[in-house]
Amino acid sequence: MFDLTGKIALVTGGNGGIGLGMAQGLASAGALVVIAGRNAEKSNQAAHALRIAGGHADAIEADVTDEGLVQQLFDELERRHGRLDILVNNAGTTVRKHPDQLDLHEWRYVMDTNLTSAFLCCKAAHQLLKRQGGKVINIGSMMSIFGAPYAAAYGASKGGIVQFTRSIATAWASDNIQANAVLPGWIDTELTQGAREQVPGLNERVLARTPAGRWGAPSDLAGIAVFLASSASDFVTGAAIPVDGGYSIS
Ligand code: NDP
Repeated sequence: MFDLTGKIALVTGGNGGIGLGMAQGLASAGALVVIAGRNAEKSNQAAHALRIAGGHADAIEADVTDEGLVQQLFDELERRHGRLDILVNNAGTTVRKHPDQLDLHEWRYVMDTNLTSAFLCCKAAHQLLKRQGGKVINIGSMMSIFGAPYAAAYGASKGGIVQFTRSIATAWASDNIQANAVLPGWIDTELTQGAREQVPGLNERVLARTPAGRWGAPSDLAGIAVFLASSASDFVTGAAIPVDGGYSIS
């Protein structure tokens, strides 16, 4: 039920953090995982690490905010691997400022990276996924649910990703494409190492509020990725699933 042998998965931003955690899960379940990120060296290293661990992996350089480059990414993926079964829209960033301090350029940078990228990748992937049916996994956040003073653009993008997921889930159900969002809690990655430095008291607040009593690790996202990529989730679509150690219910 969870076997992904023969499947081709693309993970945007899969060269580190949560993306790499999910890529490791998908590869260990048998999928060939293609890592897409701007930093080609980091992506090649991540693919190499997946292969060393016994998986199948490849890397393609891409900036997922650029429509032309996104099309090139999917053309190259089809040329190399011939098909696409699983798309994970994970690339993300943030600018931590109060909304009154945020400029339009920063707003657009966050929205383009976190939300428009998912639209561009889904649009470019649709015909490939439709051929045999497929899975889309979009990465939201606790900021898909809650507000925070330093997360106006980030929260808007992550709220948007949930509604975008519901939209494609309904539009493409008849193509046998299931689309779901994963809402990670506080996971220890480069992104949140920055947050811990910039937001005083964040580390203590996360530990106090997370019933599991710890920050998540990227590997905590491996299981949900396998579930949502596999036939085990064939009747699950349009859901937004927290993976947060209980943060969102406490
Ligand atoms: P990281 O900063 O560790 O990873 C971000 C990834 O996104 C990198 O691989 C980066 O690769 C890629 N990326 C950024 N911009 C682009 C772009 N324009 N084109 C292609 N790839 C891009 O962050 P996390 O692992 O923490 O975050 C991953 C996702 O999880 C994000 O969507 C984030 O919002 C979300 N998330 C994270 C949480 C956490 O606690 N860490 C909590 C909730 C959600 P490169 O630089 O090579 O392009």
